[in-house]
Amino acid sequence: MSACILVINCGSSSIKYALIGSGTGAEQRIAGLAENLGTAQARIKGTQADGSTFNYQFNDNNDAQAKPASHADALQYILKQLSNHQPAAIGHRVVHGGEKFTQAVQIDSQVMASIRQTSALAPLHNPANLLGIEATLALFPSLPQVAVFDTAFHQSMPPHAYRYALPETLYTDYGVRRYGFHGTSHAYVSERANTLAGMPDQGGWLTAHLGNGCSTCAIWNGQSMDTSMGLTPLEGVVMGTRSGDVDPGLHRFLADNLGWSLLKIDEVLNRNSGLLGLSGLSNDMRTLVDAAKQGNEKAQLAVDVFCYRLAKSLAAMSCALPALHGLIFTGGIGENAADIRAKTISLLPHFGCTLDDGKNQRMYAGAEGRIDAGAGPQIWVIPTDEEGRIAVETRQVLGLIE
Ligand code: ADP
Repeated sequence: MSACILVINCGSSSIKYALIGSGTGAEQRIAGLAENLGTAQARIKGTQADGSTFNYQFNDNNDAQAKPASHADALQYILKQLSNHQPAAIGHRVVHGGEKFTQAVQIDSQVMASIRQTSALAPLHNPANLLGIEATLALFPSLPQVAVFDTAFHQSMPPHAYRYALPETLYTDYGVRRYGFHGTSHAYVSERANTLAGMPDQGGWLTAHLGNGCSTCAIWNGQSMDTSMGLTPLEGVVMGTRSGDVDPGLHRFLADNLGWSLLKIDEVLNRNSGLLGLSGLSNDMRTLVDAAKQGNEKAQLAVDVFCYRLAKSLAAMSCALPALHGLIFTGGIGENAADIRAKTISLLPHFGCTLDDGKNQRMYAGAEGRIDAGAGPQIWVIPTDEEGRIAVETRQVLGLIE
């Protein structure tokens, strides 16, 4: 029996959690989400061991004077829900590990200090991840805790892939370089593809993680060789509300001509751009695909730009691979949107890909499998499992039985 791991993914106002163990052969999972923490609308919803669901509102009588539920309050409630399942350890998703962390580590005061130092590179994410770590350390001082970094998988990138063409001191003194994110997802789906394709740790894969955030990655023999996100998760392909690559000269243009501050520019590029900015309608790909089918031209343009920029990124990533064995689609869009996969593949004729339309259309809602027609590189749809991968890495770091 493998040790039960509580996986925590702590955002600034949310906590995603999953208790992952495998007692009877089949994996057992109890998962949930706490939202709106720090506000009067704080709530937790999730499943319990028997499969039933719960939805708990902290301030359900709308008492304006009530103290808003904190991360610690939410964790305490979550642990009460899980009281019959004593976890052996806790695995935390940490967004930025800088250059220091090339793999997951057991958390101690030095590791926490390093995560804190790296907050300059991820001011929205690392402080929230630390909140979760501090709260669980206070609640469970005797449980071992492990940090699993989004950036760690990409630390194998060579300097010609991770350096920007900027003055060297910006790198040596301030850590300005490309780091990449979504590492647990790219690592998981490429390993899974190796297993499914029967070539453990061998070969060259291009992965496309397409959720609300989107990134591509080139993986050779199990190692990340290049990825589309950079110093921050804003670089690269078009995302739900993030622009992806823009001309760096845009910042000065907006400051000079519209009087925008850097904060305002950052806000617009992160929150009002991408699919939402292009369509003026939604950041949700389902809404856009439906609207485009109804003749909405802006939704169609958003879909077209998304697929073109994705194909362009995959073509660029292929330069990092000595040989291309296959492409992998994952994340909410990659796992479900057959039309987006087909359109992207149609823009890569020089890869020699062939798509089996029937298989492509049948691949959604958690289905896993190959969608190519046999000739050219393999094309896979593989549902990602970041929580499962964090549990596996947590067990490995602590030497717990798999
Ligand atoms: P997150 O990055 O927050 O984990 P997900 O991986 O769940 O996000 O992906 C969210 C995206 O997946 C949204 O843009 C959503 O529209 C898209 N998506 C989910 N199901 C479908 C579908 N059937 N067709 C197209 N897009 C879908």
